[in-house]
Amino acid sequence: IRSGLSERLGDPSLTILQMATGIILTTVILHYTRELRGAMLSIYFMVMTFGIFALDRRRQMAMAGFTLFCFTTLQVYEWLETPQQAIFSFLIGHWIILALILCWFIYMGGYIHNLQSRVRDQRENLRDAHTRMEAIAVRDDLTGLYNRRHFLERLEEELSLANRNHTPLYLAIIDLDHFKQVNDNYGHHSGDEVLSRFARIASQSLRKSDLLARYGGEEFVVLFPHASEGASEAALERLRNQFSEQHYDFAPELHTSFSAGLTAYQEGETADQLTKRADTALYDAKSRGRDRIAKLP
Ligand code: GH3
Ligand code: MG
Ligand code: MG
Repeated sequence: IRSGLSERLGDPSLTILQMATGIILTTVILHYTRELRGAMLSIYFMVMTFGIFALDRRRQMAMAGFTLFCFTTLQVYEWLETPQQAIFSFLIGHWIILALILCWFIYMGGYIHNLQSRVRDQRENLRDAHTRMEAIAVRDDLTGLYNRRHFLERLEEELSLANRNHTPLYLAIIDLDHFKQVNDNYGHHSGDEVLSRFARIASQSLRKSDLLARYGGEEFVVLFPHASEGASEAALERLRNQFSEQHYDFAPELHTSFSAGLTAYQEGETADQLTKRADTALYDAKSRGRDRIAKLP
């Protein structure tokens, strides 16, 4: 086991081999301690205890059968060797007691084995549930995009990476235009549909490496790592065109648009300073008539 060679076997802890050795040794000892036979039988049970946690019911039955076989062989051998010393009622009595206790071991062993596999199953279920919960905790219910909390965590990580590697980083805050009117004119449910639609086309249109999240209400954020200003702006313009071309069944005449504020990360500044500047750029885009992208260096 120490050498690691047993890892290649079906029974890497060598439980069966160790038990078989124990049973055979016990049988030999029993032969030389005939007067103590009744007490010495308990050594078999010590060996059987060894398998309770490691073996399934089938293997435990096999080991119990092997014990009984060894003991029967011993009894028959002694009966044939020295019939004058053998007391038949003792032989049968010992045999029956051994067989009964072995049955009990098989029953208990099976019970413990089932208990162990139930605990293992429960642990796996718990781990699955935990993974699912983690996925839910970082996502927004309505759009399925990352939520604000997850975005802010990732933003901090990306900022420290950009600081360390001196790589460029661009942040955009997107706000849907006159969204309150969509709710007021067509109902909250239709508003939700517009939000989901925006999330879907933005997910398809942006690159996998861009970090897109719902920042709150009808506001979204995109972080462009390693991108240039031109590439970030082009990605936003493409998305703006796609969003304005959307058709909605509940309101064929509805035209949706968004405004965005885009800014570059300046080394050493905090996430708060960066988002505030993107917000100022967004405000600028709104005040200049909406449906546009405004930049701040
Ligand atoms: P502006 O062009 O200046 O951004 O105008 P706006 O109407 O988009 O902005 P305002 O902040 O006045 O309204 C935002 C609206 O978004 C108000 C709120 O009810 C709505 N909203 C926020 N979250 C949700 C949501 O999850 N579902 C729906 N249907 N509406 C939402
Ligand atoms: Mg808003
Ligand atoms: Mg808005």
